[in-house]
Amino acid sequence: MNLTNIGTVKEILSRHGFSFSKGLGQNFIINPDICPKIAENGNAAEGFGVIEIGTGIGVLTAELAKRAEKVVAVEIDTRLLPILEETLADFDNVKIINEDVMKCDLHRLIGEEFHGLRTAVCANLPYYITSPIIMMLLESRLPIESITVMVQKEAAQRLCARVGTRDSGAITVGVNYYGTVKKLFDVSRGSFMPAPNVDSAVIRIDLCSEHRLDEESERFFFKVVKAGFSQRRKTLANSLASVMGIPKERVYAALESIGMPQAARIEQLDMEQLIALSAELMKG
Ligand code: SAM
Repeated sequence: MNLTNIGTVKEILSRHGFSFSKGLGQNFIINPDICPKIAENGNAAEGFGVIEIGTGIGVLTAELAKRAEKVVAVEIDTRLLPILEETLADFDNVKIINEDVMKCDLHRLIGEEFHGLRTAVCANLPYYITSPIIMMLLESRLPIESITVMVQKEAAQRLCARVGTRDSGAITVGVNYYGTVKKLFDVSRGSFMPAPNVDSAVIRIDLCSEHRLDEESERFFFKVVKAGFSQRRKTLANSLASVMGIPKERVYAALESIGMPQAARIEQLDMEQLIALSAELMKG
């Protein structure tokens, strides 16, 4: 079944009485070049189990299933299940989990479904929840090797920014702490049905299995990072005082220890400085 043929897609959707949910970020890929490229760049290959987040009608799921050993796809919208039964009927290596990915126990899922296969994540992410999903995947220390996802162009810019620059955010620190990130290619808004108001890009995060901090220090580090970026225009001393209740004097002393002025803002600190600042503040 050709799931990038507009006539075919419209026929399936109307036969099932399906209408797009804007709230769930439902923009389905109809450009035939995109899904094979995501699958090929995203470790969908022999020896790999792939987790997909948000199947839509299964256009990417099918390309992943053609190449990977097994695909486990998490989709929140129950209305898509009868459609997927039809569109993915040719594949016996796909399992659909009808859940909110943010509530899903992915550790258990990987253990139960992939039986020691190497694991990757591939998705055209729902845009309303892009950063929370990526942060969740990173912070839960899942045994995954790569995350290859389509995101809005602005989100791609933030993800691929350099830590310590104006374009960076908590998510930039996240991807650079847990691995390395690169933009693979741009995707125009006309590649989707319905077309969104912005263009997109596909990025790939390669994850390191070793982490620089132990779990407790890591949790504290990301509290500091998120607090700082939640009020990025304020000075770090002000944002950490208001969000985490850390006395300003302690922040000043920590900033001084990493050679930064009292008025520094979080976006001015590079990765090494952020880690050193957090370690200093954690000492109490
Ligand atoms: N992969 C399909 C494609 O490329 O055509 C669909 C991508 S569409 C941008 C995002 C999909 O994510 C939708 O099918 C939507 O229902 C699903 N979704 C939205 N929020 C979700 C959540 N919290 N958990 C799992 N799936 C979600």
